[in-house]
Amino acid sequence: MTEPQIVWLRRDLRLADQHAFACAAQHGPVIPVYVLDDETPGARRMGGASRWYLHQALESLERDLARHHSQLVLLRGDCVEQLCRLARETGATTIHALRHYEPWWRDAEERLASKVDLCLHDGNYLLPPGTVTTGAGTPYKIFTPFKNALFASVDDFDILPEPALASPDIWPASDALQDWGLLPTNPDWAGGMRDFWQAGSSAALDRFDDFIEVIGDYREDREKPSLDGSSKMSPHLHFGEVSARQLWHKIARHRSDGARFFKAELVWRDYAQNLLLPFPGYGEEPYRAGYDDAFWRDPESDPAAQVDLVAWQQGRTGYPIVDAGMRQLWRTGWMHNRVRMIAASFLVKHLLIDWRHGEHWFWDTLVDADYASNGTNWQWVSGTGVDSNMFVRIMAPLSQSEKFDAGEYIREYVPELAGLPDGEIHDPSDMFRPDDYPDRIIGHREGRERALEAYRAMKG
Ligand code: FAD
Repeated sequence: MTEPQIVWLRRDLRLADQHAFACAAQHGPVIPVYVLDDETPGARRMGGASRWYLHQALESLERDLARHHSQLVLLRGDCVEQLCRLARETGATTIHALRHYEPWWRDAEERLASKVDLCLHDGNYLLPPGTVTTGAGTPYKIFTPFKNALFASVDDFDILPEPALASPDIWPASDALQDWGLLPTNPDWAGGMRDFWQAGSSAALDRFDDFIEVIGDYREDREKPSLDGSSKMSPHLHFGEVSARQLWHKIARHRSDGARFFKAELVWRDYAQNLLLPFPGYGEEPYRAGYDDAFWRDPESDPAAQVDLVAWQQGRTGYPIVDAGMRQLWRTGWMHNRVRMIAASFLVKHLLIDWRHGEHWFWDTLVDADYASNGTNWQWVSGTGVDSNMFVRIMAPLSQSEKFDAGEYIREYVPELAGLPDGEIHDPSDMFRPDDYPDRIIGHREGRERALEAYRAMKG
């Protein structure tokens, strides 16, 4: 019998199109391991909603592995220490893993490679981050040329099937998933998420097959929060239950505008990761100078800013579209993309609160919370990122709500407003505003003027 091979899993919880599994399976019996790591230096602790989702995703992977008469070994602690110990105990010669680009994972990969034979593989993104570059070999900073370059070099992908997995003679000891405390208990706030999500590779692919039926309308429908017009693949992609290449491959021959726009959205995910290579702190630090503490209202030192931040988090700003989005987030762990933009813009511009407070809240409450995608999008909305300065483009939540026909969406997530007629739902007048629905915490014009004034002062 050849020596066992360890497959170290992180956000790549699938068997098909998983190059670490495929390679390990060719070299010997496979020991799949997931390390719950709250200890690696500099690592961001996963937020509450992500931990809930992770529990479901690991359960599903355990079932998939059982079909191959295999198991998932669960360990807890510093990943480098745990993996080195496991390699010693099992006599495994090589640890296989997919590459990840969060700065703490790159450090951990480097530490691990100095101690064991670590074999890193690509495959969580359409193309390996760092490989789509300008003619001069430098990274693209702006999305559209990045997307055009990627589209020019990709037609379709070959997808790896699930490999046959041989088991080791003896399975190493494993934690029990239930003992990790990933699920909320007191209170159990996950009811809405249980209704909304089914984790796992097969559930993701089934959901995507349903989405393909309507992909022709994606270009228009994805903008309308009242419709079920987008794929809802984001947690499945984030945790790697499916690969972006698998999704691309399934629609490679679709010629509709919808399919083309969908592929472009997948490219956004690659683009965000590509920004982490030259700018590892991009997920949490503003790229542009000037947006420092003096620019923002600080909830920690300014009680009025703290009240505003809490109203935003709880969906009680008095702006129906913002409140519907924030309550959807709390209930389901997900928010429609258009509404994420509106709610983020509202926090940063109308309330003049540093985007990092919003980024942290999203990190804790999104099931798809992703260091690169979250940071990139917050910086994009805030105008603090690599794109041209967008701070002066201030979204008007009321007209956005009307333009994207958010009436039914508001009725679903803000039940106090459910009885309002169409003409009132986006911006209820005093006569229609129910007593239990809050007044606006700031007027649109007032918020806009304050933001522009702060910007002018910063620019001197
Ligand atoms: P679809 O429209 O079906 O798109 C398909 C896939 O493309 C998505 O699942 C996602 O993986 C990718 N994608 C689409 N839009 C983007 C985008 N703008 N940036 C990066 N990838 C994209 N997405 C995350 O995955 N994690 C986050 O933490 C996250 N934070 C965000 C924060 C803000 C302030 C904003 C404005 C957007 C954020 N997004 C994030 C991007 C986007 O909102 C979600 O990916 C999308 O809503 C997921 O729904 P879907 O799967 O139905 O998307």
